Amino acid sequence: MEQKQFKAESKRLLDMMIHSIYTHKEIFLRELISNASDAIDKLYFKSLTDDKVGLAKDDFAIWISADKDSRTLKITDNGIGMTAEELENNLGTIANSGSLKFKTENKLDEDNQIIGQFGVGFYSAFMVAKKVTVITKAYGSDVAYRWESEGVDGYTISEDDKASVGTEIILELLEDTEDEKYSEFLDTYRIKGLITKYSDYIRFPIKMEVTHSRPMELSEEDKEAGKSPEYEDYIEIETLNSMVPLWKKSKSELKEEDYKHFYTEKFYDYNEPLKYSHVVNEGVPSYNALLYIPSKAPYDFYSKEFEKGLQLYSNGVLIMDKCADLLPDYFCFVRGLVDSEDLSLNISREMLQHDRQLKVIAKSIEKTVSSELKKMLKNDRENYEKFWKEFGVQLKFGVYSGYGMNKDKLQDLLLFTSSQDKLVTLDEYVTAMPEEQKYIYYATGESTARIEQLPQTELVKDKGFEILYLTDNVDEFAIKMLMNYKEKEFKNVSSEDLGIEDTEKQEELKAKEEENADMLSAMADSLGESVTKVVLSKRLKSHPVCLSSEGEITLEMEKVLNSMPGDQKVKAQRVLEINPEHEIFGKLTAASSDSEKLAKYAKLLYTQALLIEGMPVENPVEFSNLICELM
Ligand code: ADP
Repeated sequence: MEQKQFKAESKRLLDMMIHSIYTHKEIFLRELISNASDAIDKLYFKSLTDDKVGLAKDDFAIWISADKDSRTLKITDNGIGMTAEELENNLGTIANSGSLKFKTENKLDEDNQIIGQFGVGFYSAFMVAKKVTVITKAYGSDVAYRWESEGVDGYTISEDDKASVGTEIILELLEDTEDEKYSEFLDTYRIKGLITKYSDYIRFPIKMEVTHSRPMELSEEDKEAGKSPEYEDYIEIETLNSMVPLWKKSKSELKEEDYKHFYTEKFYDYNEPLKYSHVVNEGVPSYNALLYIPSKAPYDFYSKEFEKGLQLYSNGVLIMDKCADLLPDYFCFVRGLVDSEDLSLNISREMLQHDRQLKVIAKSIEKTVSSELKKMLKNDRENYEKFWKEFGVQLKFGVYSGYGMNKDKLQDLLLFTSSQDKLVTLDEYVTAMPEEQKYIYYATGESTARIEQLPQTELVKDKGFEILYLTDNVDEFAIKMLMNYKEKEFKNVSSEDLGIEDTEKQEELKAKEEENADMLSAMADSLGESVTKVVLSKRLKSHPVCLSSEGEITLEMEKVLNSMPGDQKVKAQRVLEINPEHEIFGKLTAASSDSEKLAKYAKLLYTQALLIEGMPVENPVEFSNLICELM
């Protein structure tokens, strides 16, 4: 028999196929099953108008069988088959897709489900097989053919006595090596796993004879004698795929449990999701999606290992397990899948040819997630707060990143702990503001308990104004990005002008500051680099001192920025505020002529302020000595 050569360019392509187009060898099974499904689709399509086909929809199936002794894996379909010419054209030239031709010739449009269109999938078989045999009989043909190939060397075509229409593909697997155990593909359990993973939603049943074992019936005598039964093998035909994907079923058919059960099974999460959404989009590109908001962050969510993304299917066939482009970072907690018929896939079906369709889908998914979250916030506050506890920080990062480009989309999804001991939205905060309140006040610290005690909050609280407590590292950065909400500016309670100081008192304070200008500057001098100035405080009520900052970088931002890796340290311009109403002020003025004493007092007060702020004491030994001296 004449050995035919693959076309020249095909040879190179085949080599490339085997070695580099696909990242996982296991996908060969997906490719062969997709081809079988396409072939069945073609014959099924014919059967709709041609009685001679003689098969009803339920008769169509794909069969898998594995034989460990001969190391062969067989994939059989009763689809349209191939003529000798088609065999030659389709399998003799790589990158020649019969499916694409069929599609064009028959002017098939969206409704048509044919998957293949590149003409390379078949050759992925050579990633795991040393020899591939294709026995096929085309519909309407009297003769069957056998195509055999051991890879790049070429192939032979001969006649065969196959009686039924359809195709049988036989893979003789490569020998196992140290790194690759090809024999795993003969394992029933592994085959089942691959089909569930990649081909679960192929529309025709994928069947396999599976051997089970059962105890044999014991005779009465043996029973009495207490004998244990022997086991016998029996064969059962199993359908390995579920065929109709949940997301393609009509919503009215499905119950809440179906969606939840699907989630826990599919995404290996034993917690039920907080929310789900079933999207059926008939626009262009058309797609179906199932989106879930988990109730708990996965264990690796805050680690580098975490990969965001949705599963991407093309016509029920899994293309990508985590398609990151479908989700913006701030919605990275969403799990689920998207299935579209309108994707143009690249050669290996592992990437998309154009990401234009994908971008449109991603935009539309983002809108869905955002509106689902808004709905939850409005109608199901309890669950929203649960969601917030798990994933809220992600939305705050979203506000901050990209120079605030997404802040308008996200600001109404934010929650903050307030001084009134509850979570509030910015809208709720602003709505509850009394007429005379000009700003949205916030205070920062590592915990709400700690912020509660901050002396800086005294004046604002005294006025009865609510304060937002910011405890996450990202909070203040996000607030800085927002700048204002509904025309109300954000104001740190530690900032210079709080907009609530009464003018008479201001004047008084100013006079007092001028009177004590020498003392205050002497104190600042004695503290050197630590502070930029020492002032009389207008916000302190009962506490003697506090620290505030001038300029863009606040004390909290200094802490956050300096805790990040990197050598560049920033420093806020610190201001030491002294309460002029506090006893301590009298002590200071009394000591103002003794510069040595004043310097010591300044150090003590500054260190106290650091402690209240939760910042490290710069010189603990000196501080301790000063206290002892004082006592
Ligand atoms: P693709 O599926 O991307 O078109 P393949 O290399 O997988 O490319 O297959 C090439 C062509 O061979 C297919 O388009 C189809 O016409 C034909 N073919 C492959 N497998 C079968 C099969 N099981 N039955 C009938 N035709 C097949």
